[in-house]
Amino acid sequence: MQTQRQVVDYALQRKSLLAEVYAGRVGTMEVCDANPYLLRAAKFHGAPSDVTCPVCRKEPVTRVSWVYGDALKHASGSARAPEELARMANLFEEFTVYVVEVCRTCGWNHLVQSYVLGTRGLEDDRKPRRRTAAE
Ligand SMILES: [Zn+2]
Repeated sequence: MQTQRQVVDYALQRKSLLAEVYAGRVGTMEVCDANPYLLRAAKFHGAPSDVTCPVCRKEPVTRVSWVYGDALKHASGSARAPEELARMANLFEEFTVYVVEVCRTCGWNHLVQSYVLGTRGLEDDRKPRRRTAAE
């Protein structure tokens, strides 16, 4: 998405938590605790992925994008499908997206990425901050 910025990847945290699970130090009950609200969001607003659930390995995880931001008003804190995110990125100045992966079979869920969307990113593009080594 063209206005995507401030991308934070949570792969390391996910990896270390899974290492604890595989070692038996953290129970699957603790990490497979998706609540009905999250499972519902995965069903209606989730995007399929090609990542197999790291816990039960029975199905690919579904990615759910939650949006937060003052600009969104009542829509803040809701789950949105990818096509809605694209539309909202052109409507609102700035909001944060938290991408959570969820397994609809065992309930595994983890934050995988967060980033900022919105029209303010387009303004940044007009004033590029990136410099070349020659400068
Ligand atoms: Zn699973």
